[in-house]
This record gives sequence, C-alpha cells and structure tokens, in this order.
Amino acid sequence: MESQNTEQPASRSLPVATHPELGKPDFVWPTVLMLTITPLIALIGVPWYQLAVGFEWSHWLTFAVVAALNGISITAGYHRLWAHNAYKAKTPLKIVLALFGAAAFQNSILTWASQHRRHHRHVDVIDEDPYSAKKGLWYSHIGWMLRHYPTNTDDFSNVADLKRDKVVMWQHKHYYSVALVMNILPPLIMGMLTGDYLAHFLACGFLRLVYSHHTTFFINSLAHYWGRQPYTEDNTARDNDLLALFTYGEGYHNYHHLFQGDYRNGVRWWQFDPTKWLIKTCDWLGLAYDLRKTPDFKICEAMVNRQLEAARQRLSSDRASDRVRTFVELETQHLAKLLSEWRAARARWFEHNKTRFRDASSDLHAAVEQERAQLTQQLKDLEHSVKQQYQRVRSFNLAVA
Ligand SMILES: [Zn+2]
Ligand SMILES: [Zn+2]
Repeated sequence: MESQNTEQPASRSLPVATHPELGKPDFVWPTVLMLTITPLIALIGVPWYQLAVGFEWSHWLTFAVVAALNGISITAGYHRLWAHNAYKAKTPLKIVLALFGAAAFQNSILTWASQHRRHHRHVDVIDEDPYSAKKGLWYSHIGWMLRHYPTNTDDFSNVADLKRDKVVMWQHKHYYSVALVMNILPPLIMGMLTGDYLAHFLACGFLRLVYSHHTTFFINSLAHYWGRQPYTEDNTARDNDLLALFTYGEGYHNYHHLFQGDYRNGVRWWQFDPTKWLIKTCDWLGLAYDLRKTPDFKICEAMVNRQLEAARQRLSSDRASDRVRTFVELETQHLAKLLSEWRAARARWFEHNKTRFRDASSDLHAAVEQERAQLTQQLKDLEHSVKQQYQRVRSFNLAVA
C-alpha cells in the first residue's frame, strides 16, 4: 500500500527513461541506495553493537515508540485519513500525522495517496496498479519502486481534494527536509539526553526506518498473497491476523479492499487494529470526527455472497446435485429480498431522521417517532436474518465439501 518514489520533484514530469540494453526502465537511484544502504547499516551495525557494547532497554523502548509513531501515522494518516477519507481530522492531529508519516520515508502524503487510490481502483491490473500483486511478490513488496515504471509516474488527477488540504501541500512542498529532520531528531534528542548517540542512531534511527519500511511493504506484498478471503474473491487481497500484529491493524486487507471507506480494517471487536482504536480515541478527544463505518448488514451480505459464490462454483462440476442447485437458487433469491427490504427501510429511516418538527407534542411527530422505532427494529431484524443466512450457507458449504 505504500509509495516510495524518491525522485526529485523537478524530474517528476520527465518521460520514463528506459535502459537501452535491458529494455527495463532505469533505476530510481535515490530509492535503490536508501533501500539497500539502510538495511546494510542496520543488519551489520545492530548485532555488532549488541556484541561489542550491548543495547539497554531504553534503546529498545525508544525504537518501539518511534516505530509506532511512524507506523500509525502512515496507517491512520496517509492511508485511512488522506488516501480514503475514512474520517476527518482537526489540524493539530493532521500536523502530527504529517510529521511522523514523513519520518517513515515513504514519500509525501500527496504522492502516496495518489498511488494508493490507483492501487484500489485498478487492483491487480498489471499496467495500472502501481504495486500489482500479479507481477509477483518481489515486485509488489519493493521492486515496483526501484525503477521508473510508468505506473509510478506522478499523476495527481485523483487527489484534487488533497490539493486543497494545507497540511498536505505544506508537507509535499517541504517533504525531503521534513523527512530528514524527523529521522534525525528522535535519536539526536535521545543521544543528547543519555550520551548514547551511536546506540540510538542504530536502533531508533536505522533499524526503525528499515522496520517501518518493510512492515508497510508487507501490505502490498504478503497481504495480497497469504491469508483468507471472507468478503470477496474479486481481487488478491487477504485477511491475515499475523500481519495485522506488525502493521497496526492493516492485515485485514480483504475487508479493506471491499470497504475502503471504513475507518476500521479489523472490523470485529476482537481483531487487532490499533489504528481504529487510535482514530476512535481521537474522536472522543475531539481531534477526529465524521468516522465512516460500513453497516453490519452490508458486511454480512458480502460474506453471504462470498459463500454463495463458493456454492455456485460447485454447480460447474458435473456431479453437482439438484439439491445444491435448488439451495443456491433459493438462497440467492432470499438475499436479494433481504437486501431490497433493508435498502427501503434504511432510506425511510434516514428520511425520518431528517424530519424536524416545530411542535414536539404534535400527533404527526408522535406518528413519525413511532414509525422510526419500528424501522429501527426492522433494520435489526433484517441484520439478524442476514447473519442467520450466512451461518446457513456456510454450514451447507461445509457439509457438501
Ligand atoms: Zn491492497
Ligand atoms: Zn487502502
């Protein structure tokens, strides 16, 4: 899900350069150097320091805090706030997210969000998706940003809304200096406080940057290869609990690709999604507002459709019995009926919610209130029905498997 094109702004509009012999685009040298030198320093320097001097718990604590600030600024800021407009944020929160997001060295918000929106729009399409999983694990993880591929060429036509955001444009204009300062400042301050400059630059400087890079890159690569697909098989995105642990909740990528406007990725209460908890906390504190959530009915409808699709695939085999055929037909009709009732009830419920009365004691007001209560109950009943249907179709699939 990330973007890593570190070419200078002045060269952004140049045509894509192609290597004459290999027929491949030229390397993006600043990116290549950063993504090779920083891991080398971390992989050699950190074990060496551990053996020669030894890290202390305070070094690892600083590493963890700065890594979390970077990671969650990418997930809550770059990704859910700016790329998807899943909620709105007040300026102080935006500034913090823009500063610590820049420290992850994954390009400016504007470039990142533009590429990510293209990823969602053209997911898996080789010539359109900047980090198409169909081009392989290496390409989707890191390969895509090492060369001037045409899909990386900046095209800000899909981020007109972000161009009106002053924090986004300020960060875009000063991206390289902000990113550099935000990388140097934490280890420098800790070094000044403790005298352990080298330890902090190795742990919270280099190792933290490498960790931030690759945990984000995993979303583009592993989260499109490894895991389950409970909501849709229309693209390669997967849900993966283990990845969620390292990516501040972004491992629920199958859900995210279907419901990208939801501020949650781990939609179940028990799913590990610290980004959604942070956004919800910011909502309580008044720093975030207008959080967008997909209705439970729609989530469950997607899950039923996915199970029905699995049952339909059995129909293509010659041995599919009439029982399977009839079951799929009836359940498909039932889901369509539930959906149309839900849409009608929800539209009416919204209408009633908009209705304002001058006289709260009038008969009309009482009647509307009564109907609204009935509609609320009807929506709950429909949600219950679709959940029951999910259990029914899933059990059927398991039984005939
Ligand atoms: Zn994706
Ligand atoms: Zn996304």
